[in-house]
Amino acid sequence: MQRGTMAHLVCSRCAQTFPLEYQHWRCTCGSMLDVVFTPAFDPAAVSGRKPTLWRYREALPVADDASIVSFDEGLTPLVPVDFGGVSVLVKQDQLFSTGSYKDRGATVLVSHLKALGVQRIVEDSSGNAGCAIAAYCARAGIACTIYVPADTSPAKLSQLREYGATLAKVPGSRDDTARAVLRAAEDTYYASHSWNPFFFQGTKTIAYEVCEQLGWRAPDSMVLPVGNGTLLLGAYIGFSELLQAGVISRLPKLIGVQAAACAPLYTAFQERREAHSPVMPGHTAAEGIAITDPIRGRQILQAVRDTGGCFVAVTEPEITASLTNMGRQGFYIEPTSAATTAGVSKYLASLAEQELVVSVFTGHGLKTTGSMRL
Ligand SMILES: *Cc1c(COP(=O)(O)O)cnc(C)c1O
Ligand SMILES: [Zn+2]
Repeated sequence: MQRGTMAHLVCSRCAQTFPLEYQHWRCTCGSMLDVVFTPAFDPAAVSGRKPTLWRYREALPVADDASIVSFDEGLTPLVPVDFGGVSVLVKQDQLFSTGSYKDRGATVLVSHLKALGVQRIVEDSSGNAGCAIAAYCARAGIACTIYVPADTSPAKLSQLREYGATLAKVPGSRDDTARAVLRAAEDTYYASHSWNPFFFQGTKTIAYEVCEQLGWRAPDSMVLPVGNGTLLLGAYIGFSELLQAGVISRLPKLIGVQAAACAPLYTAFQERREAHSPVMPGHTAAEGIAITDPIRGRQILQAVRDTGGCFVAVTEPEITASLTNMGRQGFYIEPTSAATTAGVSKYLASLAEQELVVSVFTGHGLKTTGSMRL
């Protein structure tokens, strides 16, 4: 791997540093780690390479090519979609192998784990992150246990089961599941999509792809979902790297979309606070982003502010209407994904003048056909 600077891990709280090869998923003080890494990235080198996200190899901190765990994923189409007469370019990330953009994070994280020689992992999720981690672990031959709430619907568990993941069903709430996986993570590697910084080294590829697909320039704004912020923070990392490399001249505004029924970061942003308070969630069809207390909340707020962006909160009727609107144009996305497209409409309505806006379909509708209300 070519590196612009020596890459390492740094603790987000006590600033202790560790080598990239560090075998634990968090700092000795208990806080989360971030990857510090400035890639030596040259767009000219990329054009002849295979159409996958691994074409940005110099930007992906995986030690050796032999460790790469891949389904040739990425470089998803960037397709114009109509939003009430305004055309917005939308990344087709519902087309990833497991049905959501989480494969971006999983391919880099699981490749890193293979390079480390990790043989078993735990993760907690009954949704798309668990499926992505389970699929890449299956391909890597890494044993994987996914912690899920005991009352998770059988339909959601079948994809995990087909990938050969062991399911650990935890009675009680989603928080009880989170506590159970933390106990397991005391002696097993925790491949968490929200804690583990290597996941974000994968989600950052959406920035590289969008820039390349626009002829190596950044859009004016990117409208992205925010639950745990894995895609938004990834985009922030990616665009910041491209800025630092001199490929783009400014960061796009990052527009974070939350469901009004569960909007801790939208609220904190409106109140100009640096950190959020956990919320009691209402019901939302966008269950994939209904995160009451996102562990990287501070970082997400900071990223949105740093780019001059903002948060948008969308109501349930807006989510439902957007789902239908996308369907009528031939795009079958899951309700969580429709929260983001509802956010695009809301953001467009707030604009004084036209901008080059890019957004994303985050998850395939086929994932949730059983629970679609039609
Ligand atoms: C994971 C996910 C999101 C949002 O991701 P966060 O990392 O929680 O912000 C949005 N849509 C879909 C379909 C997802 O799977
Ligand atoms: Zn620390």
